[in-house]
Amino acid sequence: MQFVPHLVKSDLTRGTGEVDYRLQRRRLLSEIDRGLVDPAEACDIHPELLRVARNAAPKSGEDCPLCLKEDIRLVAYVFGPRLGAGGKCVISDEELQRISRRQGKFVSYEVEVCATCGWNHLLRRYPLE
Ligand SMILES: [Zn+2]
Repeated sequence: MQFVPHLVKSDLTRGTGEVDYRLQRRRLLSEIDRGLVDPAEACDIHPELLRVARNAAPKSGEDCPLCLKEDIRLVAYVFGPRLGAGGKCVISDEELQRISRRQGKFVSYEVEVCATCGWNHLLRRYPLE
């Protein structure tokens, strides 16, 4: 699957250490609150990512910060040897563990997606090991 959220794309050149994106997430949400950012922009989502989130990703039990529905799904993008330039979209822990047992360095990006309104944001990046 070759679709990657914008944030992942812009982050890929910055190494593979662990990064937490909650601060950026909070800042974006407060900017939306204050009318500085159009919520439609935050809900701009690749149709394929939305489809995966709706049909395959498990619910996290969290409420969406924008539409307040309890419909947040977690999707991971894993980058590493033989996974291609666009990475691999992974929705289960079992598959993540399988990849982490392979040879080479892998990095996983955890993205939250609201299956109702399309809100999507990076939560964290961490090396798979
Ligand atoms: Zn939502």
